[in-house]
Amino acid sequence: MMRVGIGFDVHPLEAGRKLVLAGVDIPFEKGLAGHSDGDALTHAVVDALLGAAALGDIGTHFPSSDPRYRAVRSLLLLERVAGMLRDKGWRIENVDATIVAERPRLTPFVEAMRKGLGAALDLPIDRVGVKAKTTDGLGYAGRGEGITAYAVALLEQAS
Ligand code: MG
Repeated sequence: MMRVGIGFDVHPLEAGRKLVLAGVDIPFEKGLAGHSDGDALTHAVVDALLGAAALGDIGTHFPSSDPRYRAVRSLLLLERVAGMLRDKGWRIENVDATIVAERPRLTPFVEAMRKGLGAALDLPIDRVGVKAKTTDGLGYAGRGEGITAYAVALLEQAS
C-alpha cells in the first residue's frame, strides 16, 4: 500500500530574522518570519508527510498557539513526524520539494538542504529532492516579500 501527500507553505521575509531552510542557516539580509524558525521548506515537507498518512497538518500537531513551539527548530518537528509515521507502520519512500525565492540564490545550498532533510527523516540523500526556483521577478516571490515551498512525499506500508 502506498500513499502520496502534498505540502505547501509560505512565510514573509523580514529584516532582523535569520534565514533557515531545511535547518540550513543561509546568509541574507532578511529571514523568514514565523512563530517557529520560519523554515517554510521543512514545514512543506512535514505537511506532505502528514498528508500522505491523512494525519492532519503541522498546525494539528504543533499549534502556533503553543508556547513550546515558539522559535522551535523546525527540523525537530520533522524528526518527530518521521517517528510518528514509523510508529504507525509507514516507511518513507521519498520526498521532493521546490523552493521559490528570487533572492538569495539558493542553488549553492541545495545539497546542504537535502542533507538536513535526509538526516531528520533518516533517509539517504538519493531519496530527498530539493530544487530552487525563481519566478523571474513576478509576484510576491519576485518582489522578495516571501519564500514559498512545495513538497510531495510517498509513503509505503512497512511489511
Ligand atoms: Mg510555516
